[in-house]
Amino acid sequence: MLLVVLESDQGNLAPASLEALTFGRSLAEASGLESHALLLGPEAGIAAAAGAHGADAVHVADHALLDDYGPELFGAAVAGAIGQLSPAIVVACGTDRGNEVMAQAAARLDLPFVANCTEVDAGAAEMTRSQWGGSLLERSTLAADTKLLTVAHHAVEAVEAPAAGTVSPIAVEVDEALARSKIVDRVVLSSGVTLSTAPVVVGGGRGVGSAEAYAPLEELADLLGGKVGCSRAVTNNGWRPHSDQVGQTGTRIAPEIYIACGISGAIQHWVGAKASKHILAINTDAEANMVTKANHAVIADLHTMVPAIVDEVKRRRA
Ligand SMILES: Cc1cc2nc3c(=O)[nH]c(=O)nc-3n(C[C@H](O)[C@H](O)[C@H](O)COP(=O)(O)OP(=O)(O)OC[C@H]3O[C@@H](n4cnc5c(N)ncnc54)[C@H](O)[C@@H]3O)c2cc1C
Repeated sequence: MLLVVLESDQGNLAPASLEALTFGRSLAEASGLESHALLLGPEAGIAAAAGAHGADAVHVADHALLDDYGPELFGAAVAGAIGQLSPAIVVACGTDRGNEVMAQAAARLDLPFVANCTEVDAGAAEMTRSQWGGSLLERSTLAADTKLLTVAHHAVEAVEAPAAGTVSPIAVEVDEALARSKIVDRVVLSSGVTLSTAPVVVGGGRGVGSAEAYAPLEELADLLGGKVGCSRAVTNNGWRPHSDQVGQTGTRIAPEIYIACGISGAIQHWVGAKASKHILAINTDAEANMVTKANHAVIADLHTMVPAIVDEVKRRRA
């Protein structure tokens, strides 16, 4: 059996879990295994989503101590479930939380663990994984009876694949003494569409020139139902908050279209933007990295081009 460890927060399934289920499903098929899912915490209708994305069975560990996230508790619960279910391969999300839980579980089971895989061969003995924020792809070999790995965020697109999704409870033993790291407060930074899930991102780099000059980019993002993103040069200048930064030390985005205005496309920015389905670069430099890597480019001053696009969108909608 292949076991996908789902990531959820207080009963809300993380979108990365659907990617892990899709990745797990195809790896299970290639390896001749059933694909199961493990949910820690309240079921809250999550099993149906897991079944719709390829889980033949969903094991639910609903324990009061697992109602909210704690790395040691979750790691111990995953290790306990692996002990009971004996999967050949365990796949979790390559998010901060997924990698943390798998590292905890791996340490408890004294097993090796490969994080942030982008491709895994049948049987999971060999894989490619993303290192250094995606600027290095490393080929790895994994020798263990139970193979533990996480799938890099946005390495695959979640695809529905209806499966039985049979739900069964699993009793895992977790010790309250492990509740060393707890969530004591939550701060909601943004509601509705977020940068990482926005279907459209309008990014602005140093070429925008000032905080005030983002107004047309904001207007374009609003018109297209998207969000504004930026480069680190911009956050360093204090023009936008760090929560808007795209890249290695910011958010990884995967919109339908990324409109990158006045951004050179340095590798640290590119690793956060490369999962975009389409990229339109607006830049005065035809040789800029972002321009040469984009699907479409306009070599122009963004200060005239962005308002022109805004006007055209409004005109067509009128
Ligand atoms: C450890 C580390 C981590 C980093 N993490 C990140 C990260 O997460 N995200 C990130 O973005 N960067 C990151 N960086 C910084 C990164 O290396 C670049 O310095 C940064 O991305 C550059 O931002 P930029 O493209 O806005 O600026 P620049 O490289 O200065 O590019 C500005 C672009 O604007 C164009 N331009 C100028 N005026 C106009 C105009 N009027 N109209 C159209 N185009 C115009 C120029 O031709 C140029 O291409 C990191 C660096 C390090 C060392």
